[in-house]
Amino acid sequence: MIKWYARSAGQLRFAAAVLLVFGFCFGAARCTRAQDVSYDVVIANGRVMDPESGLDAVRNVGISGGRIRAISSSVLKGKQIIDAKGLVVAPGFIDLHQHGQDAENYAAKAHDGVTTALELEVGVADIDHWYGERDGKALINFGASVGHIPVRMAVMHDPGQLLPSGDAAHREATPAEIEQIMSSIEKGLQRGALAVGVGPAYTEAATNEEIVQVFRMAAKHYASCHIHIRSGAPRPGAAAGSFPGFEEAIAAAAITGAPLHIVHIQSTGGPDVVDELQMILEARSRGLDVTTEAYPYTMGMTSIQAAFLDHKENEPDSYFASMLWPATGEHLTRDSFLRYRKEGGMIILPSNKQENIDAAIESPLTMIASDGALFNGKGHPRTSGTYARVLGHYVREEKALDLMTALKKMTLMPAQRLEKRAPVFKDKGRIRVGADADITVFDANTVIDKATYENPLQYSEGIRFVLVNGVPVLKDGQLVDGVFPGRAGRAPISQ
Ligand SMILES: [Zn+2]
Repeated sequence: MIKWYARSAGQLRFAAAVLLVFGFCFGAARCTRAQDVSYDVVIANGRVMDPESGLDAVRNVGISGGRIRAISSSVLKGKQIIDAKGLVVAPGFIDLHQHGQDAENYAAKAHDGVTTALELEVGVADIDHWYGERDGKALINFGASVGHIPVRMAVMHDPGQLLPSGDAAHREATPAEIEQIMSSIEKGLQRGALAVGVGPAYTEAATNEEIVQVFRMAAKHYASCHIHIRSGAPRPGAAAGSFPGFEEAIAAAAITGAPLHIVHIQSTGGPDVVDELQMILEARSRGLDVTTEAYPYTMGMTSIQAAFLDHKENEPDSYFASMLWPATGEHLTRDSFLRYRKEGGMIILPSNKQENIDAAIESPLTMIASDGALFNGKGHPRTSGTYARVLGHYVREEKALDLMTALKKMTLMPAQRLEKRAPVFKDKGRIRVGADADITVFDANTVIDKATYENPLQYSEGIRFVLVNGVPVLKDGQLVDGVFPGRAGRAPISQ
């Protein structure tokens, strides 16, 4: 039996190789070889790396009509030839956590190799409106979840900007409000939201029961819950750090069956990052669909009005001095913290120790996701630098990750997270014939992040060519003007 399989698999591989070399024949008259076709674009002589098949070899990639049509060791003809000799040809990176969703942010993402940027953690309240604003106008692919946070803000008339600062953060919802919140989330899912965003750290008055209801609604529509877990003081007798918030998320997933994705575990995991990664592994081994993500920085960024920054006025001076106000670059004092808290805006603050960040980035469980947002060039360097930093620092300099594993965390794993609900992702995150031609071509010997806390807009280096649906958006490291090939990453619309 085993022998038969082996021979049969060998024959299959041989047949596949013959097809690749001689092309596909559909009737004698239309028999064409891959190398006789002229493709829209050919990426020639690059080191093609595909985390799904394990392919890691020099190949030519033929692209037409926005899709990969051939992957061949023979020379391919094309209207446009990209010389990728000495460069890695990888699936375009899929960022599951990108808040900034405009031209400025998409340009920074493209320079970092990202071809699909998704707002899944906070999400949006009006799915149709959000996708409508971007259709035909985006440099890279885009998508969003329906967010419990913005929906709760709308229902409870919260005055906050991106995140709640009023009732949505601080008041329990009435039964009538809960009903409205759940029906708005369901409407978003029916209109093709990719997932459900949840952030009890920002809606701290939302009860455990409300969170379970949100998960229950997500489960009904096979949508994953992307959660920023609850922070704050642990329950008496519980482990330190954010552990109760972590348990709440795992429990809600176990109770309802909703797929769970814990965002930026390297920061919200606090001192428990390594333990929580181990618990995710254990939960997965019991059949729970739990995944997680991380970004490679020791500082985080959030709204200064976030609920978890309430009641901090008696912290020591060093607490405020550790915070950065990106709009001016200044370190805070008690006075400026309290003043800016009234005004509102984003703040950069320490999130975790380097050893915990490293453990999260190097874990085979985590996807890479940036949590990025730039506002007129101000913000956190993670927006522009996350992917190049992992490839340059963790893969090349530290050798803490092998290149294929790092690419898998940036491409295949995020595509697989979404593809059950949104089948468009079955053709993303892969270099495969028939897949969308979202491709990142980079120099593994030089790729590195350049964005800093002082200048977060400095683009990454070493990302040479980026194609979105077969259209180059970055050539020789330079942005191409006037192209908008980005498409909606959206789940099927059911109603
Ligand atoms: Zn977050």
